Amino acid sequence: MKHINPATLESTDIKETPISSIRSIVAKAKLSQQSWSKLTVKERVTEIRKLSGLIRQDAKTIAETITSDMGKPISQSKGEVEHAIEQINFFCNKSEQWLAPEDNVHFDPLGVVAVISPWNYPLNTPFSSIIPALLCGNAVIHKPSEFTPKVGIEIDKLLIGLPFFTITGGKKHGEALVKEDIQMVSFTGSTATGKKIMKDSADKLHRLVLELGGLDAAIVLKDIDIKKTAADIVKRNARNSGQVCCSIKRVFVEEPIFQEFVDEAVKASKKLTIGDPMTYPDMGPVVAEFQLKKIKGAIKDAVQKGAKVLTGGKAKGLFFPQTIIVDVKPEMELMHEEPFGPILPIVSVKYYKEAIKQANNTDYGLTGSVWTNNKKLAIDIAKQLQVGVVNINSHGSCGMGNPWGGAKCSGIGRQDNKEGFRAFTEMKYIRV
Ligand code: NAD
Repeated sequence: MKHINPATLESTDIKETPISSIRSIVAKAKLSQQSWSKLTVKERVTEIRKLSGLIRQDAKTIAETITSDMGKPISQSKGEVEHAIEQINFFCNKSEQWLAPEDNVHFDPLGVVAVISPWNYPLNTPFSSIIPALLCGNAVIHKPSEFTPKVGIEIDKLLIGLPFFTITGGKKHGEALVKEDIQMVSFTGSTATGKKIMKDSADKLHRLVLELGGLDAAIVLKDIDIKKTAADIVKRNARNSGQVCCSIKRVFVEEPIFQEFVDEAVKASKKLTIGDPMTYPDMGPVVAEFQLKKIKGAIKDAVQKGAKVLTGGKAKGLFFPQTIIVDVKPEMELMHEEPFGPILPIVSVKYYKEAIKQANNTDYGLTGSVWTNNKKLAIDIAKQLQVGVVNINSHGSCGMGNPWGGAKCSGIGRQDNKEGFRAFTEMKYIRV
């Protein structure tokens, strides 16, 4: 298959795994799991800990591979590499405690776990599943995204010697893997693919963790520091060119500060730099043509339905600037479909209660945020949001150790905490 670097448009031939070999890979994984599962948790931890040293040694190459695979600014790719080390250390430190029998409940390995991942965080996202799955005594087969195959190959090199296998390829490879005799699928990607995987998993009743798309809302109350909050929201939306599951994709602002907020957001947005991702800009290119088409389509639909573009809106190659949109209506595509790009629709609401209603008016439910100095009210609003994670005066992830995952069509299951870790095990109660 061909891989195209979205910044340079340089094309590379990547060797695909033959689909016909997937069954034998599953057989090898099963075999390797038998001896791996017999190790004590402590022994498994010792093996997995070695990975952080290997990542340190190769940090520069891995970060550059992330950037050349999918266009993320190199500063953010370096951050992803650092976080991978944090993930390893965190899970290794918790393993013995979380896998120790508790009240006659034992946590047995499942067998073979398929980890199917997207391209936007091609190292951290698969690591959220690969590392716990291995520590729990399973073998893992990883199917990286077809848009980040070289990062998949780097991960494979790091995990040599462990019960770990990589399938390089696209959608068909993922489909074939899910239909095999495996025990679990840990999938991160779009909601549409998650639904398909759930159907394909029904026959064999695979255990499932689904981390899916989002249409996150930020609710901005009239008591905040307008300039600071507008700049913060703009920056968060621009991160990874808006290609983040928990990026801010809708902003609801209380009417009294709406216009000033919009003006400040536009000012902050115009300061963002966009260009060669190797030269530390704020934004690089979007991952590929299909993504650009999706972004342009969402903007076109909004404009046709009466929205106004205040800044951005025009692509140069695969480089798409942040685009701030107002006069947004609920029937516009970008208010109910995840655009997955640097689009920031800002909506005026009379009162925060209206914002809660509109924020919940979607099938998605990944994360949300409330921006105010009134902590009590913020928590009250947070309780009413139908999402998996709410940040107050911040937005996005929730930190290692806390339950990461979505409500409604944004997913099933949680990751990064005790329950999420134990999802890679079969709970067995022994009654004496
Ligand atoms: P995608 O669903 O198109 O693809 C994800 C992976 O699934 C790829 O490896 C792909 O080859 C594979 N795949 C596609 N069809 C398949 C099938 N029928 N069976 C098995 N595998 C299949 O998603 P994407 O474009 O790579 O990623 C973007 C999406 O991921 C966005 O919706 C984003 O919000 C979501 N995401 C969610 C989280 C989270 O934690 N909730 C994190 C990152 C990304």
